[in-house]
Amino acid sequence: MPLLHSRVSKATYHGILEKVERKLNGWSAKFLSLAGRITLTQSVLQALPIYSMQTTRLPTAIITKIEQHCRRFIWSGNSEVKKLHLINGLGLKNLTLMNEALLMKLGWGLLVNSNSYWAQVLCSKYGFDPNTMSTSLPTKYGSYLWKAIGRIWPKVLQGLRWNVRDGKRILAPIPEAILHDWVVDAISVDGSWNWGRFGFLLPHNVVLMIAAIKPPSPDSEADQFYWGSSNSGMFTARTAYNLLLGNLVQDEEVRWKSIWKWRGPHRIRTFLWLAAKDRIKCKAELYRRHIGVDMICMRCGYAAEDTAHALRDCATSRRIWNMLLTGHETADFFTLPTRDWIFANIQGMGNHGSNQEWSCIFGVAIWCIWVARNHMVRDIRVRAEEIIRTCEAFQSDRGLRVQKMFGWLPPRWPYYKLNSDGARKGSGLASAGGLIRDATGRWHGGFCMNIGICSVTIAEL
Ligand SMILES: [Zn+2]
Repeated sequence: MPLLHSRVSKATYHGILEKVERKLNGWSAKFLSLAGRITLTQSVLQALPIYSMQTTRLPTAIITKIEQHCRRFIWSGNSEVKKLHLINGLGLKNLTLMNEALLMKLGWGLLVNSNSYWAQVLCSKYGFDPNTMSTSLPTKYGSYLWKAIGRIWPKVLQGLRWNVRDGKRILAPIPEAILHDWVVDAISVDGSWNWGRFGFLLPHNVVLMIAAIKPPSPDSEADQFYWGSSNSGMFTARTAYNLLLGNLVQDEEVRWKSIWKWRGPHRIRTFLWLAAKDRIKCKAELYRRHIGVDMICMRCGYAAEDTAHALRDCATSRRIWNMLLTGHETADFFTLPTRDWIFANIQGMGNHGSNQEWSCIFGVAIWCIWVARNHMVRDIRVRAEEIIRTCEAFQSDRGLRVQKMFGWLPPRWPYYKLNSDGARKGSGLASAGGLIRDATGRWHGGFCMNIGICSVTIAEL
């Protein structure tokens, strides 16, 4: 943990920049495909600053410079794609957010490992007690690192959730009259929630949510908090990054991301991305770049062979789609604008049978159609069945189709077995039930109950 006291400037972290540059000089962009360059950037260039980011806030100038290098590398030596310096939609990490997320991990460490040596040193030095759950850190004076943690502190608290145990650590978020109550003050003598004390203050759905929480009891251990953005309750830099990203993502970003999440070969993913950007080498695009002499489709003589025509509307392409689409909804398949058409099908919108499956077929098909067109001279024919077979082979490779059989197995004599289950409606209202059976399967008792408003996980528990 470097505790820097001198002023931090660009020069302090110049080493990272040099490392990135050294890596780039070692690679020959010319001999790598676009897909290869994107993968290298994602896994190597973007990973280089991570180590330093875990303990410091990198100056913006450094981050900007690294991102510049990444973009330049991806687009370098690539005549197919004119040097479009676009970072959006490339599946690259936003390094500034990544840095924040990693610093949040430190902040989280202050809360979780408040007994560790480094946390104690920091907290006693700056007179801060993490147990007070104060909403800001005293950062008027302090090291570069401390100030950096101070900046992201509110975001750490934003992601924090509580497990009610003894009710002595959690400040109850309730208005005026009982503003300074602890949760433990909200229970009656018999240990249940004292609705008379606060129930009337809250909207009905909040009351139901509270009803699903087990009231605090003096016999329990101390209250615990957990990280609300991950399923396990453990803090991870990845979930923090997504939380930060969620604050500024626009729809557009989500759409582009769906391409990089497409489950299939990276080569096809890259092609889908180029197609959505309208940058594949169809004749209209070549003509636009003054490479071709006309835009006429060599298959059917259509006046302009653009992305949509090549991949979808040309007679041969259309025939393949019609075969693939049998039994699927086809209403707007041939009418959507190119980009919307690609996104809609990749995200499995519309009623194309199993979405996951269709998304896969669509991607493979669009790629096969394109390859077939480019090999027209050698007359390679792609047939719909082949595409479907490729997809099926591919999916079973990935284990997408693994089905498991469940059945009830009796317990060993003389044990009893309790099976329970919970269910939750769209509104959040949940209930649970269970039954007890013995080794012969005989019914010994059961229960069912309303829980209130809670998550599926709680209902199942
Ligand atoms: Zn055509």
